Amino acid sequence: MPEKLAIVRTVAELRHAVAAHKAAGRTVGLIPTMGALHEGHVSLVAGALARGDAPVASIFVNPTQFGPNEDFAAYPRDEAGDFAKLEAAGCRIVFAPAKEEMYPAPMLTTVKVTGVTDGLCGPFRPGHFDGVATVVTKLLMMAMPDRGYFGEKDFQQLQVIKAMVRDLAMPIEIVGMPTVREPDGLAMSSRNRYLSPAERTTALQLHRQMTAVAAAVRDGKASCTAVTTAASQALLAAGFDKVEYLTVVDAESLQPLDKVAGPARIIAATRLGRTRLIDNIAVD
Ligand code: AMP
Repeated sequence: MPEKLAIVRTVAELRHAVAAHKAAGRTVGLIPTMGALHEGHVSLVAGALARGDAPVASIFVNPTQFGPNEDFAAYPRDEAGDFAKLEAAGCRIVFAPAKEEMYPAPMLTTVKVTGVTDGLCGPFRPGHFDGVATVVTKLLMMAMPDRGYFGEKDFQQLQVIKAMVRDLAMPIEIVGMPTVREPDGLAMSSRNRYLSPAERTTALQLHRQMTAVAAAVRDGKASCTAVTTAASQALLAAGFDKVEYLTVVDAESLQPLDKVAGPARIIAATRLGRTRLIDNIAVD
């Protein structure tokens, strides 16, 4: 039997519940999520347990990281199902605040990370990373964990959080966890449930094309631009509506590369029907 999950709704309750774990000599790992949980989220809880942390998840669909024409209203919500998954995974506390608890007053403060937000999703989602950096700062300050767990699935977001924690000297270790995939390679995402059966079949081409790009550029001889242009065209031919970007970048600075010489990442954002699909893989 997994231990009971404590469900807390207020910052005061969260701090009280976290303090009890710390008083018992445990370290604490925070796992921020927007809910509609899947095995990718569960792997972050497992990551915290593996490092000996008491896992604390948060579920909050953060309005400030959605653009006016994005899917905030439609974003899937399944609180009861999420709580059951978290308890089964061994999570100890879930913080599921109302919007008024997270934003009790008009926000006069924004956390803005530059550089790593300039490219990739940055220009396609104006204000998104400000919303993410600000809400993650708030969640870290509210829970004061020893570690924060984030998925490589959102690779640019992970680099943004790492830069923010480093620049602001937050006394928290950020742990990046590998992307959990469906058996056919599609990266798990809460947004995958928007896909129709036909789109779901098309969607698996994204990981296939990215794997092909990784193989083609791995030895550093091929031009990344030529290879990624061909892969983007193949995705459009397969039925994708848009390739916002499909790029080879330096794994840390996220600057585009034309030849692979060190740690690199293939990273992409696409649209398939109403669904925005993102993915990334390492170039070994
Ligand atoms: P989200 O609920 O989509 O905001 O994601 C919450 C956290 O789970 C983020 O750190 C994501 O990067 C991570 N995550 C989402 N999907 C996956 C996945 N397929 N594998 C691993 N981590 C994931």
